[in-house]
Amino acid sequence: MSRYTAPLADLRFALHDVLDVTTTYARLPGCADATRDVIDAVLEEAAKFAEQVLAPLNQSGDAEGCSYDKATQSVRTPKGFKDAFAKYVDGGWIGLTAAPEFGGQGLPETLGASLKEMVDSANLSWGNYPMLSHGASSALEHHGEDWQREVFLKPLVAGTWTGTMCLTEPHCGTDLGLLKTRAEPAADGSWRISGTKIFITAGEHDFVDNILHLVLARLPDAPAGVKGISLFLVPKFKVARDGTVGERNALACGSIEHKMGIHGSVTCVMNFDGAEGWLVGQPNKGLAAMFTMMNTARLAVGLQGLGLTERAYQNALAYARDRLQMRSLSGPKFPDKPADPLIVHPDVRRMLLTQKAFAEGERALALYAYLQEDIARHSTDAAERERAQALVSFLTPIVKGLLTETGIECTYHALQVFGGHGFIVEHGMEQFARDARITTLYEGTTQIQAIDLLGRKVMQLQGAGLKHFLAEIGAFCAKHAGNAALAEFIAPLGAAAKEWGELTLELGKRAAANPEEMGAAAYDYLFYSGYIALAYLWARSVAAADASTHAAEFKAAKRATARFFYARILPRTQAHAAAMRSGAANLLEMEDGQFG
Ligand SMILES: Cc1cc2nc3c(=O)[nH]c(=O)nc-3n(C[C@H](O)[C@H](O)[C@H](O)COP(=O)(O)OP(=O)(O)OC[C@H]3O[C@@H](n4cnc5c(N)ncnc54)[C@H](O)[C@@H]3O)c2cc1C
Repeated sequence: MSRYTAPLADLRFALHDVLDVTTTYARLPGCADATRDVIDAVLEEAAKFAEQVLAPLNQSGDAEGCSYDKATQSVRTPKGFKDAFAKYVDGGWIGLTAAPEFGGQGLPETLGASLKEMVDSANLSWGNYPMLSHGASSALEHHGEDWQREVFLKPLVAGTWTGTMCLTEPHCGTDLGLLKTRAEPAADGSWRISGTKIFITAGEHDFVDNILHLVLARLPDAPAGVKGISLFLVPKFKVARDGTVGERNALACGSIEHKMGIHGSVTCVMNFDGAEGWLVGQPNKGLAAMFTMMNTARLAVGLQGLGLTERAYQNALAYARDRLQMRSLSGPKFPDKPADPLIVHPDVRRMLLTQKAFAEGERALALYAYLQEDIARHSTDAAERERAQALVSFLTPIVKGLLTETGIECTYHALQVFGGHGFIVEHGMEQFARDARITTLYEGTTQIQAIDLLGRKVMQLQGAGLKHFLAEIGAFCAKHAGNAALAEFIAPLGAAAKEWGELTLELGKRAAANPEEMGAAAYDYLFYSGYIALAYLWARSVAAADASTHAAEFKAAKRATARFFYARILPRTQAHAAAMRSGAANLLEMEDGQFG
């Protein structure tokens, strides 16, 4: 059985010491209640919920999975999942960050993200159910009409209903312009939705009675491609404008998928056969509305990668301290024992430190991005809001892409630390590796995050977010220029940021001459950018630790981990830079037939 202890000390460090969130919240309208005491109390209660309610259901949920009853077209989730959801709702967790006017507690997104990291470490599959509801809530909050927010949003925030996101169709995944689901107008102002959606997370389950599907579909006269997509609210049980819940709608789960991982998270084929739905926002502008939900979900899936990295690391560390194999190269470290523990071996330490450096650095980076989201939402200063929005939109593909890809890397390192025992189900390590695999696929694959980052956020939008981020790194380096204790980080960080700016310009010129250059560089650019972003957060972490009242051991651990990151992870940027500079030709010159 795998263990999990919420990393409360590091969460508090990231929130209070590195990001100093309470100073920001004190001046943001609507956030002043998020004092240090409130934040710490919420973190502690969230930790108890994750450790005591969700973590014990992780392995049993994986083993049991979800089951589908063809006769009733219903889904049973693993034992304990439904009850855990009821406890989550009772505890007020579901509406933690939702606006008070819709029944939420209105707490900042950094707190919601901290809760989400703990939920995902404890039980990633279970976490998908509230994640989809949270995404649906934010789409409705931003794009719904008043009556829709009243009728549909409140039950989502209260947890009496859950939400889904219905984009994917059998022939249409990444390319939503291909979608075929149709919407016909009805006389009463509602719409009739027909089509088949696949891979729908939480499309059918036994947690609550009503499920609200956010469905992308085409109007009869819609233009082709992504400009002809509209967004609809399609509840499992019909809901009238006055909120009255009526009969079963003409939609059903046709089957569920059997998957490599996240067995407790149900993945459904959803058939809509003239189901009653309501248009959200403007006709043909559905993709923009759905993007609100997708952006929320993209950051959240990044947290899934982090959550798995953290839990896998905790288990690998405990095992490496306990398992005795071979002697240290420099002589026995524990002569009284038959062999030394794994943790004495340099390469086991490489694997452990890689996980630790990613977990702690990524936690700070993700919370930094969520803090920008809070500022973008609540600041009274338009320029500050715009800057924060540019930053969060720039960082979203980095958080999604990097944290999930390194989640795969780290869960594999953790499994490797266990040796052959990592491959055996009872230790739980292979489940983390299997569960991590989906995170780079759904909510836009890593490739799509990369294209969003380089093609859209950097090239199309003139890199507004990148410019702010580079300026912030520049200001940090200037502030600490005379700080001898930080010099070992400031010099390489400054050099990396300079190269980041130059390389971006170089790629911009190449892409202007040949658009294939963007596609050829994007994947490497995502990692390259992600590692430098982490280097910044690691330098900030050392500075924050030095300035804090934490114990000497804590400060030394932060510095040693940062040193490891700068020495062994940051240099990965050079391989990525070389790959980007090699250009598109080496990818494109081979003819189709020459692939074999
Ligand atoms: C378990 C699970 C849960 C899911 N949950 C949901 C859900 O709740 N709602 C929902 O709507 N969907 C959901 N999905 C669907 C998921 O979002 C899609 O699978 C994903 O977007 C990729 O689409 P696809 O599988 O059709 O791959 P494709 O689009 O066919 O892509 C195949 C490969 O080609 C690459 N590729 C495609 N286009 C490009 C390009 N232009 N440049 C570079 N590379 C490219 C992709 O990165 C990928 O590697 C889920 C999927 C799974 C497996």
